[in-house]
Amino acid sequence: MERWYDKLLPLSDAGELSPRERLRQLEGPLLFWYGENARELPWRQSPEPYRVWISEIMLQQTRVEAVKPYFERFMRELPAVRDLAEAGDDRLMKLWEGLGYYSRARNLKKAAIIACENYGGDLPGDYGALLKLPGIGSYTAGAIASIAFGLAEPAVDGNVLRVLSRVTASREDIQKQAVKREFENLVRSVMPKDRAGDYNQALIEVGALVCVPNGGPKCGECPMATLCLARERGLTGEIPVKAPKKARRIEERTVFLVEADGKVAIRKREGKGLLASLYELPNREGQMSVSQALESLGIPEAFLLEAEELPEAKHIFSHVEWHMRGLRLRLRDLPPWQKGEHLPFFVDKEELAEGYPLPNAFSAYRKLV
Ligand code: SF4
Repeated sequence: MERWYDKLLPLSDAGELSPRERLRQLEGPLLFWYGENARELPWRQSPEPYRVWISEIMLQQTRVEAVKPYFERFMRELPAVRDLAEAGDDRLMKLWEGLGYYSRARNLKKAAIIACENYGGDLPGDYGALLKLPGIGSYTAGAIASIAFGLAEPAVDGNVLRVLSRVTASREDIQKQAVKREFENLVRSVMPKDRAGDYNQALIEVGALVCVPNGGPKCGECPMATLCLARERGLTGEIPVKAPKKARRIEERTVFLVEADGKVAIRKREGKGLLASLYELPNREGQMSVSQALESLGIPEAFLLEAEELPEAKHIFSHVEWHMRGLRLRLRDLPPWQKGEHLPFFVDKEELAEGYPLPNAFSAYRKLV
């Protein structure tokens, strides 16, 4: 039986190949390897457009193992595009709670509404139309188009960029959009028309399992080893090239656990910016003393029963880091707070767990409630 490595060129010949020819030569070994090594994942079992879409959005910035239970619960509760379009915002945020990047969940719903209005409740089987939907960029559009609709469109994410730049020994900065577009065009020009979904998934899988970023690539297990220029030239530690990121801004915050009568205070954030429209524990920028905290929260001092310092915690967003300190304020009674959409209010502690999704940024304090 012919094995994938029978088709490989020896490196001395492979060294002369153009990037396009090099990728063309990879097809056989890559697809063979994928057939033998593809992981069984819930969304691969029946790769319908909706399932592929939801899984791809969840997988952005989150590990496969962590996504599996979220994906299965999401599919149980919102099994079709129309269910997502009609889901209440709080229910959707609750399903997303813990995955972070809540704007992704909001975009899912917006796109689902458009899909119901314009495409009869399913996703369009067209790369350009997919790209126009909120929250769908070229990678996700390519993944849905190729995996669910069998269209020959590339799905190039950071992992695939790493693989492709190593194979071709490219020293271009993979964070540049122009570089990503070049690789997308390259993949589009060589991918097999009849197995586009498998081809994309094979590249993604090699990036996830073999050509890994940390701890060095496992070239000895790689189906592309004899065609890979970075391996041949000893450049796997230098490629891919990424320009250094700007340092994150550090923000000091004080987070308040305000408790009274078996309840805890939360509030809904504004509709724009970081963690938009999500519930949170009341908090303020800067380090606050107890009297400053009471004043800023509008709690008369006579209501305070006890104040307690809580441990420090840190949460990292993409552009900012919150360095938090916690303050528990136990009150004799509920304070005379005004009501308003973004003003703090009290909920029963059980209700907090059930009905009000709090972002992970507050997890260190939520578990102290
Ligand atoms: S040979 Fe090594 S560096 Fe090249 S693609 Fe495979 S794992 Fe990555």
